[in-house]
Amino acid sequence: MEYTTLGKTGQTVSRIGLGTEYLINTPRANVVSVVKTALDAGVNYIDLFFAQPELRENIGIAIQGGRDKIMIAGHLGAAEKKGQYWRTRNLKISETYIHDLLNKLKIDYIDVLFLHNCDKENDFIKVMGDFFNLAKRFVHEGKARFLGFSNHAVPLAHKAIAHDEIDILLFPVNMAGASADAQGLFRACAARNTGLIAMKAFGGGKLLKKETAGVVISLIQCLNFALSQPGVHCVVPGPKNVSEFSEILRYFKTSPHEKDYARVLQELKTGVQGECVYCNHCLPCPAAIDIGATIRAIETRTGSIADAASCTACGACVERCPFGVDVIAIMKSGQR
Ligand code: SF4
Ligand code: SF4
Repeated sequence: MEYTTLGKTGQTVSRIGLGTEYLINTPRANVVSVVKTALDAGVNYIDLFFAQPELRENIGIAIQGGRDKIMIAGHLGAAEKKGQYWRTRNLKISETYIHDLLNKLKIDYIDVLFLHNCDKENDFIKVMGDFFNLAKRFVHEGKARFLGFSNHAVPLAHKAIAHDEIDILLFPVNMAGASADAQGLFRACAARNTGLIAMKAFGGGKLLKKETAGVVISLIQCLNFALSQPGVHCVVPGPKNVSEFSEILRYFKTSPHEKDYARVLQELKTGVQGECVYCNHCLPCPAAIDIGATIRAIETRTGSIADAASCTACGACVERCPFGVDVIAIMKSGQR
């Protein structure tokens, strides 16, 4: 494992951390073996945004005896409804779910408390008001050590990291989202010494599918892209099982040739033109649409497409999209 200093937190963090999203609804034995494999490999950063009780309990079991060696990140505003992920801005509910996290993990504090998944201007005002105050209270009470902000929209991420109390940014870093705007954000994090944790290194898995743009991209290239961006301290891939995590850990043993992503990046830029990769680099939307999620719902016929009806065809997203996606036409197709 390789380590670095996580920005102004001063903490030593492993370059590869563990995302836990794809451990949801897998057996306890699987969760425990993935987490233990990670810890044995020297991983010391675990992100746990999902509030599903079984997952929290299983991770609690897996970290027993090793809590002091790892940083655990939780998310204020991530809750659960009928087994599904639920983002909420209800203060009481959000607070309850952080206490639930502490209880289920059998720990006294979490290391990072993220203001969770804020991509819209009106939401930003709410989040940086009452929510921020609640998060600061957790720090004051010794139940969280550092504060973070998680989102997908470059302009709001800039605004968030301008707050001195925001120690860490959790942001998608992948080849699909490679743009001058994203690079500017990463450089701003580096300049402010803000910790930068890279999520969605595989573009939600889409980058690893050959048919995405007729370009074959490897997991190792995705990891190297994320870890090579300025300011990125740690990447948090989310494996489903030990076999997937072993492939991720192979990163440290691969040759520079296998890690080299420059050629596929160029091919991807050409091949993916016009195709949405759900990266949300087109946000914020004045109509408060989660554009990536809505397009994904329209294209895959899963999830809610109700927001498509709110599109005013203003074109702001089209100007920002690095892939020339005709968002307005896709939103219209979702209104039928
Ligand atoms: S429209 Fe473009 S910027 Fe927006 S989510 Fe799709 S690919 Fe990303
Ligand atoms: S065109 Fe539609 S989806 Fe795009 S920013 Fe405007 S309102 Fe939002």
